[in-house]
Order: sequence, then C-alpha cells, then structure tokens
Amino acid sequence: MKGVTLSPMEQFRHRVSQWSRRLRAQPRQIVVMRMTRKWASCSSRGRVCFARDLLELPPRQQDYVIAHELLHLKHPNHGRVFHALLSAYIPRWRGVHEQLASDVQGGRLTS
Ligand SMILES: [Zn+2]
Repeated sequence: MKGVTLSPMEQFRHRVSQWSRRLRAQPRQIVVMRMTRKWASCSSRGRVCFARDLLELPPRQQDYVIAHELLHLKHPNHGRVFHALLSAYIPRWRGVHEQLASDVQGGRLTS
C-alpha cells in the first residue's frame, strides 16, 4: 500500500471488511450515512449502517463500533455471549464505549 493514499471512507470500509472476515460475519450491505442518534445500526436482514462521523474517530473507537455491530449479525441482543465475544476481540471495550457515550453530540448509542 506504500504510496497509495486511501480516503477516510476507503480506509473505513477496508476496516469493516477486515472485521467482517475476522468475525466471520458477512453483512449483506454496508452503508455509511449521516446518523445523529446512533453510531451504527443493523437490520435483521443483514444491512449494517454506520454513522459518517465515525470516519473522524480514532481507529480504536472505529474498531469497537464495527465489531459491536457486526457481532449483532450473529447475536442480535446484548446477552452474555455477545459481551463475551466482544471482550475477546476488543479487550477493555467498556472504556471505549464510555468515550463514545460521552460524545459531545450528546450520548449517542452504539446500538
Ligand atoms: Zn448493540
């Protein structure tokens, strides 16, 4: 990749596809759009939406939101298994979660 400059959007989409492979969770569709109440959401039909503002966040916060949302494709709720998996892939995710929840725009949900 040396000498190739990817746009923030391309970098983000690349990150999503890496996580998708890693978690073996394949969304049908990935959408990056303006969202003001949430950082991300996913539908039962496998469509995952991410807030455009994520592109401006540090990679660590992007990773948390991406992994969280992709795991919902396999585990739609926030049960014990979901949290165990999340902790396996994003150790200390709670700290990141708190950073995102105290976002200046007023406590957005990760969904
Ligand atoms: Zn969630």
